[in-house]
Amino acid sequence: GVIYLTFDDGPNEGTTNIILDKLKEENIKATFFVTNNGPDELIKRAYDEGHTIALHTATHVYQQVYSSVDNYYKDLNSVSQRVKKITGEESKIIRFPGGSSNTISKKYSKGLMTFLVKDVVAKGYHYFDWTIDSTDAMSKSTTEDIYNNTVKYLVPNKVNVILMHDTKKTTMEAITNIIRYAKDNNYEFKRITYETPMVAHKVNN
Ligand code: ZN
Repeated sequence: GVIYLTFDDGPNEGTTNIILDKLKEENIKATFFVTNNGPDELIKRAYDEGHTIALHTATHVYQQVYSSVDNYYKDLNSVSQRVKKITGEESKIIRFPGGSSNTISKKYSKGLMTFLVKDVVAKGYHYFDWTIDSTDAMSKSTTEDIYNNTVKYLVPNKVNVILMHDTKKTTMEAITNIIRYAKDNNYEFKRITYETPMVAHKVNN
């Protein structure tokens, strides 16, 4: 099986650095879906250490990002420019806040996701959802929960895209044990590239 570790919502002072340390110790490459938060140096470091820098949106504020097609692209372009300034490369790999399957966008713009999933691809982006939610975004999730909710859903001989957040201390604490479990069970770790086949949920708006 293949595992893509994906980290959303960063970079974040105090957690992203430690996650990068642990990935380095385990010699694993991952994918970071970044926002306009956190220091530039952490994006630079992740990029220099061979991880994929992908785009999540600048603000991640649903009512703004999903208020219209124009506002979605305004937000995406803002983080895109940030990444280009730091890495010198334009990233065409994206993840929608809440995933392409989100229902929250319904509140702000009916049918928006149905339009965007096609339009981003027409504009040359590849978007990635996930196959396993580590549940680390839930405030009640402990380090143990994140470990258990990840390893129990791993599917051998398949592609496993794991949703995580490098803004979370609990994720930072769970990551080494998840990697070791996966290594013990012969999973291979990869980072998402433009050539990686898209992993997409069913659209709900
Ligand atoms: Zn997010």
